[in-house]
Amino acid sequence: MSGRLAGKVAMVTGGGSGIGAEICRHCAREGALVAVTDVRQEAAEQVAAEICQAQGHALAWACDVADRNAVEAAAEGVEKELGPLAIWVNNAGISRIVPFLECSDELWDLTLRVNLKGTFIGCQVALRRMLPRRRGVILNMSSQSGKSGSSHYAAYCASKFGIIGLTQSLAIEFAQHGIRVNALCPGVVFTSLWDGQLEDYARKRNLSPEEVKPYLEARIPLGRLCTPQDVAAAAVFLVSDEAAYITGQALNVSGGSVMH
Ligand code: NAD
Repeated sequence: MSGRLAGKVAMVTGGGSGIGAEICRHCAREGALVAVTDVRQEAAEQVAAEICQAQGHALAWACDVADRNAVEAAAEGVEKELGPLAIWVNNAGISRIVPFLECSDELWDLTLRVNLKGTFIGCQVALRRMLPRRRGVILNMSSQSGKSGSSHYAAYCASKFGIIGLTQSLAIEFAQHGIRVNALCPGVVFTSLWDGQLEDYARKRNLSPEEVKPYLEARIPLGRLCTPQDVAAAAVFLVSDEAAYITGQALNVSGGSVMH
């Protein structure tokens, strides 16, 4: 097996769609044995099957990232099937655009539960397995909304800012144990996450849904939206040994629209 991740076992949450699915494909192409996990079993199975058809190595596992027992069972099952986990990508996330005063307790709790608590649980489960081996890499999915606040986006921004704080804290705590922890901060990628919020975003900006893409592109120095491939390429780099001296970072993949 060849590639930058040859023979390494990688767990990717939210791997059934969008950015997570592309990270799974990229990792498999670099020789990793990939566990595609998602709360939607069928979606995970589809991505895993596609990877296997392309001569990669993958299995699917259904699991809700905020359910600790399910995440532990997934880690256990994946290690039995594929071997010791070397890479863990906490990618699963949800997003809604609502004016702050209309953000219900339920929406706040759900956003923080999946995005932040799910990442917390994933990090703990991964670290408990990686620590005895003194080896491992964790990558958490933040956002440019983890670096800059935005109207109608309070719960999402709070969760994504939180992920960067969590990432930095773990990077410091576990560096001495040989474990690196980084985050990625993508710009806007038109995945199914955006299908669910395009109209709300258009309303917030007083635009029609068709005007949203050109509006966003005009504000990005590199002049185009981010793609799942852009994010996956950065993900592979950060989890590979090429990034051996990089930990505690929150890397923007945002075409120049965020510079801090
Ligand atoms: P997506 O909706 O295409 O994919 C998210 C996947 O996560 C789905 O397959 C979904 O089933 C899964 N998921 C949702 N809740 C889950 C749970 N509780 N447990 C396990 N899986 C669950 O979205 P995407 O755009 O690919 O987003 C992936 C990540 O990237 C998210 O964390 C998102 O916040 C982040 N992100 C996205 C963008 C963007 O513009 N799309 C930008 C920055 C960051």
